[in-house]
Amino acid sequence: MEQKGKIGVTTDNIFPIIKKFLYSDHEIFLRELVSNAVDATQKLKTFASLGEFKGELGDISVRIAVNKENGTITISDHGIGMTEEEIDKYINQIAFSSANEFLDKYKTDANAIIGHFGLGFYSAFMVAKKVEVITKSFKEGAKAVKWSCDGSPEYTISAADKEERGTDIILYIDDENKNFLEDSTIEGLLKKYCRFLPVPIVFGKKTEWKDGKSVDTDEDNVINDTNPLWTRKPADLTDEDYVKFYKELYPFSDDPMFWIHLNVDYPFKLTGILYFPQVKNNLDLNRNKIQLYSNQVFVTDSVEGIVPEFLTLLHGIIDSPDIPLNVSRSYLQSDQNVKKISGYITRKVAERLDEIFNEDRKQFEEKWNSLSLFIDYGMLTDDKFYDRATKFFLLKDADGKMFTLDEYKTLVEANQTDKDGNLVYLYASNKDEQYAYISAAKDKGYSVLLLDGQLDIHMTGLLERKLEKTRIVRVDSDTIDNLIKKDDSNKVELTDKQKEELSETFTSQLPKLDKTEFTIDYATLGEKGQPVQITQNEMMRRMKEMSAMQSGMSFYGEMPNYYNLVLNVEHPLIKQIMGDVDGKDKDAVSQYASGSDTVHQLIDLALLSNGMLKGEALSNFIKRSTELIK
Ligand code: ADP
Repeated sequence: MEQKGKIGVTTDNIFPIIKKFLYSDHEIFLRELVSNAVDATQKLKTFASLGEFKGELGDISVRIAVNKENGTITISDHGIGMTEEEIDKYINQIAFSSANEFLDKYKTDANAIIGHFGLGFYSAFMVAKKVEVITKSFKEGAKAVKWSCDGSPEYTISAADKEERGTDIILYIDDENKNFLEDSTIEGLLKKYCRFLPVPIVFGKKTEWKDGKSVDTDEDNVINDTNPLWTRKPADLTDEDYVKFYKELYPFSDDPMFWIHLNVDYPFKLTGILYFPQVKNNLDLNRNKIQLYSNQVFVTDSVEGIVPEFLTLLHGIIDSPDIPLNVSRSYLQSDQNVKKISGYITRKVAERLDEIFNEDRKQFEEKWNSLSLFIDYGMLTDDKFYDRATKFFLLKDADGKMFTLDEYKTLVEANQTDKDGNLVYLYASNKDEQYAYISAAKDKGYSVLLLDGQLDIHMTGLLERKLEKTRIVRVDSDTIDNLIKKDDSNKVELTDKQKEELSETFTSQLPKLDKTEFTIDYATLGEKGQPVQITQNEMMRRMKEMSAMQSGMSFYGEMPNYYNLVLNVEHPLIKQIMGDVDGKDKDAVSQYASGSDTVHQLIDLALLSNGMLKGEALSNFIKRSTELIK
């Protein structure tokens, strides 16, 4: 009863096109065919549970076999199988039209196709010159049939010999794809795509070592875990289960810090487990470890576009049949379902962090160093996350004490509000380098934050925008009285002539430093205050630091560093210098200055306490100091 036909195709060259354009992703044929086999098996199980199938389920494993001699790969299932009519409907018409539609899309949008679902059964022709389907429906009295197609749009369909229900798909691998006839290649692909499928996937037998060589045992080599952790109820799982699963996914990683078990049914379906890894300093190493599944079939480990960018730092599994996988990334980002999914995940992550913070603040604080990078990143890039995170975001002071934003505000409000009603948060970025400034601030009873994290420059900008009437300035950005100006007293009262004389005294003696410029400034810091100190304007410094971190702003990077050399006009040494240069002209002032150990010593001490005294200047300073103590 052999019957011939022509697949309802418009272009004769569809198979060459399939081969050519999907070149990089040839391997997905295996994922597609094994998924079909699993679907057919799952359908049979459903029919059995509904009483529509009354026979024995028997062994329902899906088996994959490679025959190198014949050049074939066979995928066999004991699922529902197909009748001749069904083959005609599902393989000749429907499957083909979806392959066709797939190629149609390709014409307008190359990204729409590459590497994603949708080709289904016909992806077999990416690697095979001929495909045979031998199938027998589970329906009573069904006859086995064989469908065969050699890669042209022509197929044959004939009666077949097959005792058991189910389907064998036999691929005659073409010359360019012989690598798929290696057991190790197929086993590798099965482990990649089929590791968590819900039906046992068997590839050959388990082996053991006997008499110095590897031999097959009687036991099936089952590739997959049919009941992976994320499909189970959280109530049945222990912490050890979660950690063990994590280690299976990422064998060489440290234990995760926390995890979230996701489970939604409506308005979309999504399950999964997300882990917070112990973040090392290199963000990129940690990125893109989340694996995306669709009904337990591995799809990709690149989830950008599906979860918000900062969540790509998490590890784990997301499984959702509702993520459209056969479309381009740019389309994904505007897809409503994807938006909802990403919003949901953001909310869950924030809720979980809030929960840990409330239940065990101590633990939360201990893990803050790892967590902060991730939380900062989220706050910086996602407004909704920012709003949620304000409850558990922590500020750390120079002594290591931690505060929430509200707690910190309460702490400093009374003492660190300036005359205009602005709250001023002081911070240091390096405890050692800015030691003198930190202790000056502490002496005033001020609190100093330590902002030495990777994203802290960006965080200061963000917090200033978000927090009302709050400035955040580094302790060395001005003299202590000016950092938090409480009134207009301490005004410097010098005549223009006096300022000129002082300025000339110091500028004429300042060393020339690469890309560094100084402006002379005056302050009244009392007799005991430092005579000379160096400050650096907060805004200028931040701009430079930001530009160092991103490209396209190199203009700022090229700019010199501007510093202020602040002279304390109430200090006896400065007063003495003022007396010495009083009434002198420019030349006489610089002549005086070049011969003054005091001027040189004051400049060098200020540079020294800022880590800016180096090389020859440092050596001169040491010599001069030794002379002075003789
Ligand atoms: P999809 O799986 O997306 O529906 P495919 O092109 O992969 O598209 O398959 C088309 C149809 O062929 C399936 O929907 C199914 O009805 C049928 N089919 C494919 N493989 C099998 C199989 N192993 N057993 C039973 N039916 C199958």
